[in-house]
Amino acid sequence: MTGQTRADFLKMDQADPLGKCRDRFLLRDGLIYLDGNSLGALPAAVPERVQRAITGEWGKDLISSWNVNRWIDLPQRVGDRIGALVGAAPGQVVAGDSTSVNLFKLLAAALKMVPEGRRVILSDPGNFPTDLYMVQGLRELLGENRCQLRLVEETEITGALDDDVALVMLTHVNFRSGRMHDMRAVTRAVQASGALMLWDLSHSAGALPVDLDGCNADFAVGCGYKYLNGGPGAPAFLYVAARHREQVSQPLSGWMGHASPFVFDIDYTPAAGVGRYLCGTPPVLAMLALETALESCWSGVDMAVVREKSLRLGTLFIDLVEQRCAGHGFSLASPRENALRGSQVSFAHPEGYAIMQALIKADVVGDFRAPNLLRFGFTPLYTRYVDIWDAVDRLALIMEQGSWNRPEFHRRAAVT
Ligand SMILES: *Cc1c(COP(=O)(O)O)cnc(C)c1O
Repeated sequence: MTGQTRADFLKMDQADPLGKCRDRFLLRDGLIYLDGNSLGALPAAVPERVQRAITGEWGKDLISSWNVNRWIDLPQRVGDRIGALVGAAPGQVVAGDSTSVNLFKLLAAALKMVPEGRRVILSDPGNFPTDLYMVQGLRELLGENRCQLRLVEETEITGALDDDVALVMLTHVNFRSGRMHDMRAVTRAVQASGALMLWDLSHSAGALPVDLDGCNADFAVGCGYKYLNGGPGAPAFLYVAARHREQVSQPLSGWMGHASPFVFDIDYTPAAGVGRYLCGTPPVLAMLALETALESCWSGVDMAVVREKSLRLGTLFIDLVEQRCAGHGFSLASPRENALRGSQVSFAHPEGYAIMQALIKADVVGDFRAPNLLRFGFTPLYTRYVDIWDAVDRLALIMEQGSWNRPEFHRRAAVT
């Protein structure tokens, strides 16, 4: 590592089997975008596809588009494409709603599947807050007799399993630290205790190999706008293992999940298959953007190759920050060990907010997560090795010059 130069990083890019994938995205020259874990970059094929959907399909074909342009199949079609990236055979994933709403559906469904005494949803306090909020809302609706939330540290989960636990709900890769659970081992331990397992894949889908079927997961949810590049507010997704799919229905029993929505029966009958987890009309334009992103960015990409590059980017970044910014107060807040780390690296620093604003001003976009984390996401389809070099180069300059300490960098925006 020591003694490496920028030229060495350029050489790594030349040898990179994913190097050509960068052309699948529209990224401004000079920008180093290390925030694809918050909002993925714009795929080059999306603007034209959405434009065509607006003027051609909506504008000309109008209502017939539901049939002739197959809008009606979008949730399942997009779901199966996502399924292919997370190890789910077709028919178990649908795209739609937000991650939060999908969590609500699956949490409620899971509580109906277990014996009555099992009422605890077990999670960890470092989980993404919306996941915990959704349990709190369900608890309010169902009452403590039917739904309780128990929180233990993420490394203590399997030790906290008992006969009260209905479901364990974990985010596979922690959004702050990037720490990753062993999906197979945790799922096995949870199921051996008689509980069900739900994984939130928001920081995993499109970031690293996931094998939901192979790990025998019960349920999963995830986000469409991060590593899947579906665009701001893109539809999320949910997974229900085929063995459970028809066992229960979910409480958001809208017409799009009905067995025959266009019969307009007054009674709800859930659809056969994963379609029963849908609720209302899909947001077609957003669905088409997500579908196009999945088709155009991910075709022919081997997730094992993505993982290898992601870990290499992360390791190089950690090493460079620790060398070039030594003595400036950064401490690594992500696992150093590759097997435990997702596709992001976080550093803690008491002045993290201002430093990140100064970095963004220098065209290196990461994000800040309260109270003190600078978070950098690596998206191997469009992050280059030289970006890692240049990002740390600019960070080192900001620290040496102390330019982060300008008043403008201390002002907090609504979204960080
Ligand atoms: C980004 C993210 C979400 C987003 O939830 P939405 O309801 O889609 O806004 C949920 N959970 C985790 C772990 C996330 O990282």
